[in-house]
Amino acid sequence: MGLMEPVEELKGVGPKTAVVLKKYGIRTVRDFLYNLPRDYENYEAPTSIAEMRPGKVVIKGQITDLKTRQTRRRNLTITEGIIRDRTGSVKVVWFNQRYRERQFSPGVEYFFTGNYELKNGRYSLISPSAAEVTYIDAKSGLSPVYVAHGRLKSNDFRRLMVKSRDIFISIPDMLPTVKQGTRAKALFYAHFPNSLKSIQGSHDYLAYEELFELILASQLNRRENDKLQAESIVFNAPKIRELVASLPFKLTGAQRRAAWDIFQDMEKSTPMNRLLQGDVGSGKTMVAGMSAYEAFLGGVQVALLAPTAILASQHYEGLKQILEPLGVKIALLTGATKKKAELKKQIISGEVDLVIGTHALLTDDTEFAKLGLVIIDEQHRFGVEQRQKLMLKSPAGLAPHLLAMTATPIPRSLQLTVFGDLDISILDEMPMGRKPVSTSIIAEVETKEKLYPLIEQVLASQPDAKKHGAKAHGQQVYWVCKAIDEVPGDALNVDGGKSEITSVKKRCKRLQEVFPKAKVEFLHGKMKPAEKDDVMERFSAGEIDILVSTTVIEVGVDVPNATLMVIENAESYGLAQLHQLRGRVGRGASAAYCYLLTSGDMRPTRRLSEVARSNDGFHLAEVDLKLRGPGEIYGALQHGALDLRIATLSDTKLIARARKDVEVFLQKTENMVKYKELMNGITKYQQITTLN
Ligand code: ADP
Ligand code: MG
Repeated sequence: MGLMEPVEELKGVGPKTAVVLKKYGIRTVRDFLYNLPRDYENYEAPTSIAEMRPGKVVIKGQITDLKTRQTRRRNLTITEGIIRDRTGSVKVVWFNQRYRERQFSPGVEYFFTGNYELKNGRYSLISPSAAEVTYIDAKSGLSPVYVAHGRLKSNDFRRLMVKSRDIFISIPDMLPTVKQGTRAKALFYAHFPNSLKSIQGSHDYLAYEELFELILASQLNRRENDKLQAESIVFNAPKIRELVASLPFKLTGAQRRAAWDIFQDMEKSTPMNRLLQGDVGSGKTMVAGMSAYEAFLGGVQVALLAPTAILASQHYEGLKQILEPLGVKIALLTGATKKKAELKKQIISGEVDLVIGTHALLTDDTEFAKLGLVIIDEQHRFGVEQRQKLMLKSPAGLAPHLLAMTATPIPRSLQLTVFGDLDISILDEMPMGRKPVSTSIIAEVETKEKLYPLIEQVLASQPDAKKHGAKAHGQQVYWVCKAIDEVPGDALNVDGGKSEITSVKKRCKRLQEVFPKAKVEFLHGKMKPAEKDDVMERFSAGEIDILVSTTVIEVGVDVPNATLMVIENAESYGLAQLHQLRGRVGRGASAAYCYLLTSGDMRPTRRLSEVARSNDGFHLAEVDLKLRGPGEIYGALQHGALDLRIATLSDTKLIARARKDVEVFLQKTENMVKYKELMNGITKYQQITTLN
């Protein structure tokens, strides 16, 4: 059977099942085979029911008397039954797993594994996993566990897989010879393991295969980029020196190096495809400004795209001061811009040299005379299509140079794989005078005793500098919350525990009660853009003392007079994100503080302690990658597109080998034709890795 056949072709998959499978992205036979188990259950060496002891047990038997009842507590159903073997019987109980009612057939033997414990005065087997004995490898007792998709539970996948057992033999390899074996074997043992070693072997093969695809995709992107034509902009040393001399500060070494990388890229007649990463406050905007000036000198227009209107106007104000005296004509284009039509005329006529704007820049009627450089700030805030829209605004036949900027650090292992087609410059040096934000962890129960007095102090402190927050009476505070409204029940947090989530609105109200003299307001992503801008502007002007906000402030406006940040439910954030959030404070002359508030009386985890200890965004990203895996972290970065099934991007050895093999693969052009499935499959990865 061909791998690209629709799932309906599989035995046991009727029209109804096919609908469910497709809903969860399993469309072809290939998708079905690659729907890998999330875990394995071990039913090795079952005990007889008569010999069961409290604790984890494995038993083998038939099940009868299944029935489900609703409890008085709403939303809780209890499914009960009796399991029997030759030696005796035991009661079995499942909670909220009504589907168990129809999982079992009479007269069939099943394995069960779970806890045998005292519940309501009686020993029972509580919420065991179960699998049909005939499906399980007799020797190892290993059984795959699949993620449930709608009404298709793990056991249904198991059943379907068993019916398709004879497909595996004919699965062809997708890659050139692989040291780890064949794909047929790898996939077979993933679904029908006969030992722990066989699972490991299949994992190694499939991880390699996945990395190979990812790296190949990014290398092909690089090749495609290199085929494009761009305006070559010759480095104008004297003029750039003039600009640097006019700055109110000395550039950091890292800023110089990054600018140099960029100038060299722009001299080429293939488009630059560079990512500039640097911690919050490392001075990316200035590098963008220098690049924009260089492009201006080379006679092309520049577009700078920012994710919010406030940010766009902050860039506009900042860059205007520096570039306008040098003859650059700058314009701001956001939703709020008046006389848009007139401005757009000036852009298309080429009168405007640098346009700074938001999504408003992306509309079809914003056309350029000669767009030669596109700069995207906080690039991960934009989708591929949005970025592409801007890239297409250059003159026919020419692609603009692209400079993307981000404060989310990308660890080296990701640079080599997912972002392998990008050139990367890193601002690893902070401008003079910036102090690290001193960070501590406090349990929420200690808020009143420990935190409120500190806030009181900050509110009463001398404003950081009179020009910052002109109307402020004291210094200002950010308070970051996880949710806008109350979340019913408890939410699972990153560290695997449960958190009580306090909402922005509730926290705002409470803080206003505690600090009656302070002006407390809230900000969140669901507010209208104009409302958001208004709150942010008033906070920036010092009219608001405490701003209670969701992470919308992460992408940020500079408020140097804000010197204290509280991050509530800190355990529910990634390390890189916490680091980026706290970068909102410590932008002025005064010392700055960040308090990570953990839910209830939760003890700080190793993860959180790491943020308190380190001020190095790269280090924190590496730690996060190790502890949580890339899907969690970079999923958000690329709008959920990146979720590797198996490979761990921290497996540097495997990455290195896959990289080498991809290089060899690419040397033979005929490979592109020969390996059809591979080439078709990687288009989806190319979407992820591409920046333009
Ligand atoms: P980010 O990398 O977070 O975008 P910004 O570009 O907004 O950082 O810079 C943060 C602040 O540091 C700005 O106020 C900017 O003017 C200032 N700055 C940038 N470069 C330097 C420098 N070399 N020396 C001193 N201050 C600098
Ligand atoms: Mg910035």
